[in-house]
Amino acid sequence: DANRYGRGRIARYRPEIGPPAPAMRALEPDLRSAARFEQLHLVFQPKVRCADGAIVGAEGLLRWRHPEHGLIGPDQFIPLAEETLIIEQIGGFVLGAACKAARAIKNAGFDMTVAINVSARQFGQPAFIERFWRAMKQYDLEPERFEIEISELSMHPSRDDMAGALEALRAIGFRLILDDFGRGQTSLAFLAGLPFDGMTIDRSFVAGIGHSSTAERMIGGALKLADELGLETIAEGVETEAQFAFVRERRCAFAQGFLLSPPVELDDFLALVRRSPFLGPASPS
Ligand code: C2E
Ligand code: MG
Ligand code: MG
Ligand code: MG
Repeated sequence: DANRYGRGRIARYRPEIGPPAPAMRALEPDLRSAARFEQLHLVFQPKVRCADGAIVGAEGLLRWRHPEHGLIGPDQFIPLAEETLIIEQIGGFVLGAACKAARAIKNAGFDMTVAINVSARQFGQPAFIERFWRAMKQYDLEPERFEIEISELSMHPSRDDMAGALEALRAIGFRLILDDFGRGQTSLAFLAGLPFDGMTIDRSFVAGIGHSSTAERMIGGALKLADELGLETIAEGVETEAQFAFVRERRCAFAQGFLLSPPVELDDFLALVRRSPFLGPASPS
């Protein structure tokens, strides 16, 4: 049962089918104005400490509520947004929404991190850093509270400037997470030279637990690598007790997934942590 510890009654925000890829292109003008028309919003998925089930953070995930096509997931519109540079506007919206959420969580009395997802195109830009800084100051927040997740898929192993852009973010105090580890082509040498604080293990590997020895070996290898590089680890896409037990036993530090909670509206996230700051079978509550 997905959302087993999410305590029901919470609106699900799994992206729906949405328009097919070619039709997406026709939505470019709509996407351009989506932020202005308040059709974009972030939903938040808890990040849970495996050892005790404590909710230690929230990851903001973007949703587009299109007036005709309904809820459209980021996998469908982020590629178009990147191609058309609309990502810069959207990224600005995400920064603001993440800061707002971090402030609400802090005001509610919880000390948690807020993670945002950014594409390589965004984080390399000085304007991105300035904008993030201004938004943080506006909400009286510190960079240590934020995690910036960069998908391995958007990393370009040949580009030296990636390392420089990451160093700049790290120097400010942001925490850096390599997202979707195992899906891209990052070489060990390249990864070892980058200033990441953690990595997520892609959900395609987590999905293979129990029936794919390749996936299981991949997870074991990733955890070992992370340990050697001093990176924290987050298993994503944990949907079953067996998957959670597998990653917990191998000392993966954190987990996210429908078993614990799907992404939810900010108010529901706050309600969830107020009810209990713990989720999952290891939970002391
Ligand atoms: P991600 O950062 O790896 O986020 C995890 C994705 O897995 C999310 O999909 C989440 O809803 C989904 N998920 C979480 N738990 C489970 C589970 O137990 N089972 C399954 N099957 N899925 C689970 P979502 O929200 O559709 O986001 C997809 C990707 O879009 C994200 O992957 C991220 O790379 C990107 N994205 C999301 N928000 C933003 C954003 O604000 N900016 C940018 N540039 N990219 C974003
Ligand atoms: Mg992510
Ligand atoms: Mg991921
Ligand atoms: Mg994540």
